[in-house]
Amino acid sequence: MIFDTHTHVHFPLYDKDRDDVIKRAQKVGVKMICVGTQAATSKLAIGLAKKYPNDIWATVGFHPNHLSENWYHDRKEQKEPVREKFDVKKLGELAKDSKVVAIGECGLDYYRLTDASREDHVKNQKEAFSEQIKLAESLGKALMMHTRPSAGSDDAYEDTLEILRENPISVPKINHFYVGSLTVTKKLLEAGFYFTFGGVITFSRDYDTILNYIPLDRIMLETDAPYVAPEPHRGKRNEPAYIIETAKHLAELRGESIEKIAEQTTKNALQVFKITI
Ligand SMILES: [Zn+2]
Repeated sequence: MIFDTHTHVHFPLYDKDRDDVIKRAQKVGVKMICVGTQAATSKLAIGLAKKYPNDIWATVGFHPNHLSENWYHDRKEQKEPVREKFDVKKLGELAKDSKVVAIGECGLDYYRLTDASREDHVKNQKEAFSEQIKLAESLGKALMMHTRPSAGSDDAYEDTLEILRENPISVPKINHFYVGSLTVTKKLLEAGFYFTFGGVITFSRDYDTILNYIPLDRIMLETDAPYVAPEPHRGKRNEPAYIIETAKHLAELRGESIEKIAEQTTKNALQVFKITI
């Protein structure tokens, strides 16, 4: 068994062949967590988790990029649902469902912010993030964070650390698609964070140092499908079955067996998301 802790196979991009995609994952022993990016996609994730109760779990959250207009121009071709307003009450209602194992993806994304509107966007993102942190804590569910700093910086991770220092929580904290430096990695490890890695580690060498530095009991695997497929599928639409390639790469890099990588990262996922199979 191997756990894809962050995927979006509930997105409309899979409408034509979703059951086949899930069948291919089942065939290679891949279980998955479908991650919401707004209320509408969170609802779709829960629906799919109910359809496949032994293979799929869901999260409910509001992605920081969905707070900003520009995202929708960039992402039209991805066929994500139309824009909605951030409404924590609505998210809270959805998140009560027993198939929901985490709140997110939520957090701070400074990567696309331009100077002119930066201050307003940062403020909006911090507010929406804080509300979702409170929601996770009140429901006792893990916090799945999308954190993306400005190019060449750790700023969004530093701000995240500060927010959580001011409002400490007891639920597990997960850095999805982790891209931080070794310096901030040390701080995040100290603060108890978990880290997920996906297809990008198979074709970029930027991650090698931290992938060897972080203890395996803090690492989980993800695909973030449909985005960033691993080698040898790079450039194609991603899917959960491809997580095997990412696991293989991590095993090679750390000098461990793929069985050991699959076993420990799955064990972490079951513990963090309180899933019993
Ligand atoms: Zn995602």
